[in-house]
Amino acid sequence: MRITQIETLLLSRMHEPERQWFTSKYRTVKADCPVVVIHTDEGLTGIGEACAYGVPLLISEWVDWLAPEIIGKDPTSHAAVPHPNGRNSAYDCAVAGIDCALWDLKGQIAGKRTADLLSPTALDKVRVYASSGCKYDWRVRPEQLIDEALEYIAQGYSAMKFRIGTEWAWDGVTVDRFLGLVRELHQTVAGRMELMLDGNQRLTEEEALTIAKELDRLGFTWFEEPIPQTDIDGYARLNAAVDLPITGGEQYRTLEQFRPYLEKRAYGIVQPDAGWCGISEAMRIAEVADRYGIHVCPHSWHNGLMAMENAHFVAALPKPHMLEICMIQGPLQWGIFSQPPAIEQGHLLLPERPGLGVELAPDVQERFPYVEGHYAITVER
Ligand SMILES: [Mg+2]
Repeated sequence: MRITQIETLLLSRMHEPERQWFTSKYRTVKADCPVVVIHTDEGLTGIGEACAYGVPLLISEWVDWLAPEIIGKDPTSHAAVPHPNGRNSAYDCAVAGIDCALWDLKGQIAGKRTADLLSPTALDKVRVYASSGCKYDWRVRPEQLIDEALEYIAQGYSAMKFRIGTEWAWDGVTVDRFLGLVRELHQTVAGRMELMLDGNQRLTEEEALTIAKELDRLGFTWFEEPIPQTDIDGYARLNAAVDLPITGGEQYRTLEQFRPYLEKRAYGIVQPDAGWCGISEAMRIAEVADRYGIHVCPHSWHNGLMAMENAHFVAALPKPHMLEICMIQGPLQWGIFSQPPAIEQGHLLLPERPGLGVELAPDVQERFPYVEGHYAITVER
């Protein structure tokens, strides 16, 4: 079998005002989904979603640039697989989309689920957590965060990750005020839901330490990216100061980028994302992290195909934990598939179908035409 063509479908959907979400000063106005499609001379096609943070139009250009090296190759051959370089995010996202589409094809060719190709002990279903907590506004009604958590409990989720809200300086939010909301949330859901916090690299080390100690006391599951990601020693100090795992690495795409964090025990859990680094590199990172006794719990944002890539990755891990499911992407997220996978009682069931187990809906480009422009706008108050 030979690869005959590689293309990138660019899909988008504008958010209705009530679906827009915030981080700091940014308001997200649309959802994007770049999908790499690899065709073969025997009629099989593989699909892979590249992380849209690599910028869809740039990803598409890099896929076209890489295609001549891959067309004509056997999709199961090592020679067909490009590698991320850790330097250029758009290039690495293109590589990730191609790598995931090849894993989809390899599964279809072998008649096996991708997870079963990755590990002989792969799971049939993975526990998922609801990832959001990024719609509450410190100026309007921060308690919206608690309503949201209760909705996810009603939907069967047993864990949730939330963020630190709109820009703190706009409303004089302090660590104390933030922890007040955290305690209120914890008290409301305690015993029903595990909680994780994502700082999105927005805190100082001093703020992060105060928050980490309180999250540790409350029994949080992890504290993600509290401080700027390049501060390895700061991460190592925080991770050593509390029992709670300090986590990160969602934007890193190579084992070489993760290695200093592993050596310094700067992360208690590492979070590579198959949509950003590819399944092949994610498995390499996981293998080395396991040797350090450090668990992997991938970042997985955006749409359903990236969730499937990361679901197969989690199912194949030596110590599978949880898969992140983005709760705020809107109808684009699962609407790209003719049949989305089942999520039942807080678990995603891997479809029986070989490969990644999902198919794009035939009319996906008509329903979600690409909208140019950045996915977020900067707001001043
Ligand atoms: Mg994160």
